[in-house]
Amino acid sequence: MLQHPPAEPGMREDEVETPALILNLDAFEANLATMARRLKGRNVALRPHAKTHKSPVIAHLQKAHGAVGQCVQKVGEAEALAWGGVSNILVTNEVVGARKLARLAALAHVATIGVCADHADQIDALDGAAAEAGARLTVYVEIDVGSGRCGVTSPQEAADLVKRIADSRSLTFGGLQAYHGGAQHLRRFEERKAAIVSAVGIVRATLDALEQGGLPCPAVTGAGTGTFDLESTSGVYTEIQAGSYCFMDADYGRNFDENGAPVSLFRQSLFVLGTVMSVTRAGSAVIDVGHKGVGVDSGLPLVWEKPDIAYAGASDEHGNLKFTPSHNGALKLGEKIRLVPGHCDPTVDRYDWYVGVRNGRVESLWPITARGAMT
Ligand code: PLP
Ligand code: MN
Repeated sequence: MLQHPPAEPGMREDEVETPALILNLDAFEANLATMARRLKGRNVALRPHAKTHKSPVIAHLQKAHGAVGQCVQKVGEAEALAWGGVSNILVTNEVVGARKLARLAALAHVATIGVCADHADQIDALDGAAAEAGARLTVYVEIDVGSGRCGVTSPQEAADLVKRIADSRSLTFGGLQAYHGGAQHLRRFEERKAAIVSAVGIVRATLDALEQGGLPCPAVTGAGTGTFDLESTSGVYTEIQAGSYCFMDADYGRNFDENGAPVSLFRQSLFVLGTVMSVTRAGSAVIDVGHKGVGVDSGLPLVWEKPDIAYAGASDEHGNLKFTPSHNGALKLGEKIRLVPGHCDPTVDRYDWYVGVRNGRVESLWPITARGAMT
């Protein structure tokens, strides 16, 4: 059930009902502009990952900043975007199961739909579903470039799958899916660089195998917020899939740049707003945001701009705040606290609405229509 919005336009931020997902619109817009500026002249397209934002509204704003389409992980996310008017969507994932494939093929009548494969049986099933629906699907062959997740593990296997797509009735070969997830949060720049140099080597070897087989490769797509500078200047990647850049989170805040300073290209735009709900102990307080309100898989949230207060522990619906000895004065019941999520993607998935804030006032409420899309 879609929950009642926690705010109305014009409210002050401290009047917003909590827990709420707050978007600093100035910082968010700056991030979209920064990414566009950064990629300019690099001859790569931007296809942001919507697993982060789950919202056609944000997809349209990214398109206005030059994005060529969106990525998703789930068929349900693709449906929410396509039904919300997004015309070009890549499922950066293998899709298995007849019902899911039928949904995907049906969607190809509404939008251009790409999907990944790393096995001949998936290609045959995709071809069958597309033919049955009277639609065409674009298929990308996923190669493992170091994550040890999905993807074929040799250039020859990739070439065999591309050939199978080329020989199919209803599929078009879209290119190589070459995302290195394991590289995104390597803390030191040199470590991320080494990982992407290795990924680029695997992509090149695969492109060579395709060329030898007379199989043209239209695109190489991949990269996330932690490494996109490297892929986008590699000369082999043609498309960037970064997702978190529009929001950022505490985990990305722990990455370091080539000068050894915390990465600061993008601004923190996403917050969870909580309310102090209990103050029975000196040196601590409880807020109404537990791990049901903020993702903790990549670490606990940080308290925004209050360095002497730590979010020290999460239960389902409670968060324990601790003050360092230097903190002067207690937190008051009803006081509002902004948290920086440890991980933006699962945090967004817990909310129905973005509360867009500018200059301390609520400006917009955007529904998170792909929230909970798990199939
Ligand atoms: N591409 C794929 C396939 C992903 O799985 C992800 C995230 O895990 C991304 C792109 C985007 O990564 P990030 O949100 O770290 O920019
Ligand atoms: Mn993530």
